[in-house]
Amino acid sequence: MRVAIAGAGLAGLACAKYLADAGHIPMVYEAREVLGGKVAAWQDEDGDWYETGLHIFFGAYTNMLRLFRELGIEDRLQWKSHALIFNQPEEPGTYSRFDFPDLPAPLNGIAAILGNNDMLSWPEKISFGLGLVPAMLRGQQYVEACDRYSWTEWLRLHNIPERVNDEVFIAMSKALNFINPDEISATVVLTALNRFLQEKNGSRMAFLDGAPPQRLCRPLLDHIRARGGMVRLNTPLRQIHLHRDGSVASFRMAGSGAAETEDVVADAYVSALPVDPLKQLLPQPWKAMPCFARLSGLRGVPVINLHLWFDRKLTDIDHLLFSRSSLLSVYADMSNTCKGYADPHRSMLELIFAPARDWIGRSDAAIIAATMEELVTLFPMHFSGADQARLRKYKVVKTPLSVYKTTPGCEQLRPDQETPVPNFFLAGDYTSQRYLASMEGAVLSGRLCAEAVERCRERLPDTAGSQPSQPGSGQR
Ligand SMILES: Cc1cc2nc3c(=O)[nH]c(=O)nc-3n(C[C@H](O)[C@H](O)[C@H](O)COP(=O)(O)OP(=O)(O)OC[C@H]3O[C@@H](n4cnc5c(N)ncnc54)[C@H](O)[C@@H]3O)c2cc1C
Repeated sequence: MRVAIAGAGLAGLACAKYLADAGHIPMVYEAREVLGGKVAAWQDEDGDWYETGLHIFFGAYTNMLRLFRELGIEDRLQWKSHALIFNQPEEPGTYSRFDFPDLPAPLNGIAAILGNNDMLSWPEKISFGLGLVPAMLRGQQYVEACDRYSWTEWLRLHNIPERVNDEVFIAMSKALNFINPDEISATVVLTALNRFLQEKNGSRMAFLDGAPPQRLCRPLLDHIRARGGMVRLNTPLRQIHLHRDGSVASFRMAGSGAAETEDVVADAYVSALPVDPLKQLLPQPWKAMPCFARLSGLRGVPVINLHLWFDRKLTDIDHLLFSRSSLLSVYADMSNTCKGYADPHRSMLELIFAPARDWIGRSDAAIIAATMEELVTLFPMHFSGADQARLRKYKVVKTPLSVYKTTPGCEQLRPDQETPVPNFFLAGDYTSQRYLASMEGAVLSGRLCAEAVERCRERLPDTAGSQPSQPGSGQR
């Protein structure tokens, strides 16, 4: 079967990989000049990389780890010590750690929580631990039923002090979905906590050893091509053409010239687009179908990713850090954490600026000035006195509509990979799978989508006799 896939983020590339493995011919069309979607990255004039987002891989990412194994690139994941590390706003320049000892789950998680006395008091630990009991006993069913509540509402329901939010969950909520605990669905935080507490290495983190388009997307591309598939950049899907019965007749793609278009005919069609552009491309006759109508409730959340190159080392910590400050979320000194960005003498901080709603429209200079003010409180020793650290250069990458905003009630809006249209399928982190909006969710959705195409083979309209597009043409 020839399968046309629009979008070369992790979902589209994973879908193409698993289709190619099953003996089909995936034809991937990406709008932009770079692979990876939300893991895309570029090189500046000095050859330094800057990225759409600071990306962390977790031990709980079963599908992603399987993908690395299948591609033979497991050594590209740089695993860090099993810990969560937070800045201490009350004691600038210091850190508080949750260290997970080498014990089976959930003992290692419990020991990590009990062992940290900087952030939570004993009564807070006990009330929080009791609140988590239903999630641990009743599992995913309970976790999904909590999608009615925001995380703050869930804490109140369980009489857990508000201070637990201030100390831990503002940072965690911003890291998970770039929003605050009064907005995020309780399901999202409970899903993460469940994975972290139930799997020994669930919360262990790894950094990729370089830029994702080169170190992860490129091997996917090579794998797809080696099995007869193709991936074409700079080719946005413009329109979905339908047969009279409402099934897809072709994908109309933008051609190489400004006014040119190309109709791609295939046996099955996949949207691996983010939810916002997909909504704009839905053909009129589909809009009333419940699974597509529900998409109107899903919308990308704004986020800003920052890169700051300094003239000296600010920290030697080789790990992700939770800033616990009002504008920033998580950050890392990539000169320590990532082999491909290593610099023994100078720091490159990559930081996530969130929530970004009030900042996404502001100038890069204003965003950097506000960030520097927060960094002064995080690293006072480097930004006071006569010999202060100097910012050499910076890059700001704004994503106005990133992953879908996981507010209460969103779970039931997420569509299956199989749609009521017989030859049209969906992949993407927003589609229904248990890993929410993440790289793991994107990869899993791609595999589930490939499986759905295979499963629905019998119901696909017969495209014999229609003019096939040439998989080889325009191949890159
Ligand atoms: C700042 C930031 C930090 C993040 N940190 C983490 C993290 O630490 N850990 C984690 O697991 N996840 C993280 N994520 C989330 C993760 O990046 C995403 O969940 C995942 O990459 C989404 O993959 P996707 O394939 O579903 O969508 P996308 O990556 O958005 O891919 C969709 C693709 O479709 C293309 N496209 C759009 N319109 C068209 C069109 N008309 N025709 C053809 N192509 C089109 C896009 O250009 C894009 O390449 C982060 C995201 C951001 C933004």
